[in-house]
Order: sequence, then structure tokens, then C-alpha cells
Amino acid sequence: MAIQAGPLFPLPSVPLIKRNTSDVIVIGAGIVGLAAAHALLLAGKSVRIVERSEPGVGQSTRTGGGIRLAHGSDINVKLAQLSLPTWLHFEKLFGINPHYQETGHLFLTSKDTKGLTTQAGLLDSLGVNYDSLDKVGITRRWPALASTDFTDGNYCKVGGYLDQHRVIRGYVQTVQAGGVHLELHTRVDGVIRDGARVIGVQTSEGSFTSETVINAAGPHAGEISTLAGQEIPFISRRHELLLLHRTAGIPENIPWLIDIDHQVHMRPDGSGRALVGGFLGHDEPDDPDDYDPALSEPWSTSVREQASRSFRLSRPDAPVVGGWAGLYPGTVDYLPVLEKSMPGLITAAGFSGTGLMHAPAVGRIVADLIDGGSTFDLDISALRSSRFDGKQIVTDSTGF
Ligand SMILES: Cc1cc2nc3c(=O)[nH]c(=O)nc-3n(C[C@H](O)[C@H](O)[C@H](O)COP(=O)(O)OP(=O)(O)OC[C@H]3O[C@@H](n4cnc5c(N)ncnc54)[C@H](O)[C@@H]3O)c2cc1C
Repeated sequence: MAIQAGPLFPLPSVPLIKRNTSDVIVIGAGIVGLAAAHALLLAGKSVRIVERSEPGVGQSTRTGGGIRLAHGSDINVKLAQLSLPTWLHFEKLFGINPHYQETGHLFLTSKDTKGLTTQAGLLDSLGVNYDSLDKVGITRRWPALASTDFTDGNYCKVGGYLDQHRVIRGYVQTVQAGGVHLELHTRVDGVIRDGARVIGVQTSEGSFTSETVINAAGPHAGEISTLAGQEIPFISRRHELLLLHRTAGIPENIPWLIDIDHQVHMRPDGSGRALVGGFLGHDEPDDPDDYDPALSEPWSTSVREQASRSFRLSRPDAPVVGGWAGLYPGTVDYLPVLEKSMPGLITAAGFSGTGLMHAPAVGRIVADLIDGGSTFDLDISALRSSRFDGKQIVTDSTGF
């Protein structure tokens, strides 16, 4: 496939990768690793991705495909803003239509107006267009929500969802066509150091060396950090999604609805069905090597009951087409670690529920961390792992 070079990413000529060495090794072919590899390719680096399975089989194809600008922390809003152009131009850049659907997104509350006010302040300060709505405003726009208890909402017209499988395919095809080597079914089980500097990885298929190693191992990022001799407190939390059958009758013209009081969300899926998710106030850590990826009946029952109480669009026993579980690969404060962790090692992991929507910006920041560039005027100091050494940590107040 020819590389689709759009105006955002002019392609330089890329040095050929040598047999066991490259400028950069990326650990993990999830969305974060692939976006980093793509940005590094554009920066003229030779790149090898080492993936223990297949691209996207970690958490990146277990997402709901959600893209939104409204978040509860400054850095999350900025990363979403900087990534949005890639989603809007994805087909031109990567040659595959990601089936992006612009539903908009609506954060709702009947009691946490402080949370929405904080979010509104962030959106104002960062120039994001949104509407702050009261009960009347919500009902006027979406009469289907008239009987809900919500008193306030923040509505962003942009954002929605896309098909994460097509996104992964677009990235894989593009980076491969550009010369990135994908070492699949190859597990990193050692990090090679020369003194204080990381100079490569040991894998199930032998050793590879590089100037820089990127830890983009998603929920397994903590293991890679440990192999390198650093402890970062990554935490993965199980998160489920289910699809309501179209006979549930969810209107197609509603935005992505997010009830911050009860931590449940719902959106139409474009074919008469609706995707429903949420922690419901529970987000216990789970083991990345031993979590159950199947939809659990108790959660399925509870989330449909809560979605029914919150949005009043479906019955508590609405029919389910199917569902699945995955992990939010995160940290205690739900924000990622994005930093030069030690000489030769960059960490880009722990993106909780935002890894897909933030990946394009993260990829370019990773490339900048290597080159000392500054594509974006963005302070990422809030994402250093050293924040866990003290008590002052930023949190994303929305819980999503
Ligand atoms: C149910 C659910 C819904 C979600 N919804 C959204 C959403 O709507 N929008 C959004 O933006 N995000 C969403 N997320 C979050 C999103 O899925 C993650 O933030 C994102 O996928 C993280 O990407 P990643 O590349 O860091 O991790 P992963 O996709 O997990 O990739 C890490 C890769 O590293 C590989 N790996 C691990 N260890 C090794 C090793 N030792 N050697 C070699 N390879 C290794 C793994 O095999 C894997 O492929 C959701 C998550 C879940 C579970």
C-alpha cells in the first residue's frame, strides 16, 4: 500500500533498519505504540516494534471507540484537542476510513454541579466550544431526555466514536509501508542496559538494540519498568461494555451521554443499537495476565438498571446483543506516565480510558522527547512518574 501523506504529516526518507538494531524499539503494538512508531517514522527514525501477540489485541481493540474533548483535567483536554485533527483526517493520512461518527458528547449531573463547573472552566480556558445547559436546555435539545432527573449538562458538539479496528489497521499498514519492522509474537522479557543507559531489549526471539526504547506495553508497562530497574505504580482496572439490541429503542439522535453521578454512559452505535458502559462506582484493580474478558452477568444487570434510571431511554431488562470486558491501563490518578524515564527509555503508558483518543498527540510527544523537539506548546510535567513520590497528584475529576 502506498503511504497516504496528508498535509499534517509530510514523510521524510527513512533510514533502512539493520538486522538487530534500529534507532528506536517500541514495546507494544497497541494504539499508543503504533502512534509513537508512526510519529517516529515521520521524524526519520528507523523503528522496530516488538509485540508479544498481534497489533491491537491488548486493550486497543477492546475500547468503545470514543473520542471526546470534555475531560476533568487540563492535560486530558489538551491531548484530545491535539489529537482530533488526526481523527478528522484519518482516511487521508492512513488510507482507511475509520468510520468516525460525530455524535457529540454530553456530561450530565443532577447533583455534582461543581464537577461540571470545573469542567466548564477548563473548556473555557482551553477554547473548546461547548454549551452549558440547564434542565430546560437539555430537554429542548433532546426531548427524549425530558423525564430524566438531570439538572445540568456540558455538551460538546464534536467528538463521538470511530471503529478502533480500522484505526489499528490504518496505523499498521502505514508504518509497515514506511519501513517499520513489526516483530510479532515476540515477547520482551529483559531490558538491556549499559550502565545507567537502556540500549535494547531481550526477547523470546533474541536481542535487539537501539538508541531508545519506548515502553508502550499498556497494562504490562509496570513489568517493563521493573525490568529496566524502575518502579512505577501502574494499576489496571477492569471495565466492561455491552451492546443493547435495537429493540431496546434507543434514539439515534442522542449524543454520547455520560452520567457523572452514577458513572454510567450510553451512546447509539449507528445501527439502532446502543453501547452502554460504566464503573458504577466500582473500579477495583485487576491482573492483566488473569482478568476475565467476558461480560459478567451481575454487571450487565446492574448497568442496564442504572442506565434505565439515569437516561430513561431503555428498560432495566433491555435485551443485550453481547458485551466484553477489558482493562483501563492506568495509574492511581487515572493519568498516564509520559516521560523520559531514564537515559534511553521513554515511558508512554497508563492511559486509562483515553488511550485511543489521545494516541496521535502522544505519538508526536514521544518523538519530541527523543529529538528534543516541541511540536506542541504543551507542558507534560503533570505526567511525570515522580508525581507518585509525593502526595500532590492531579486527578481527572470525571472518573472517565
Ligand atoms: C472497555 C473499555 C472501553 C474503553 N473505551 C475507550 C474509549 O472509548 N476511548 C479511548 O480513548 N479509550 C478507551 N479505552 C481505553 C483504551 O482501550 C486504552 O487506553 C488503550 O487501548 C491503551 O493503549 P495501549 O497501546 O497503551 O495499550 P494496549 O492496547 O494494551 O497495547 C499494549 C501492547 O503491548 C503488548 N505487550 C505487553 N507486554 C509486552 C511484552 N513484554 N513484550 C511485547 N509486547 C508486550 C501487548 O500485547 C499489547 O498489544 C477503553 C478501555 C476499555 C477496557
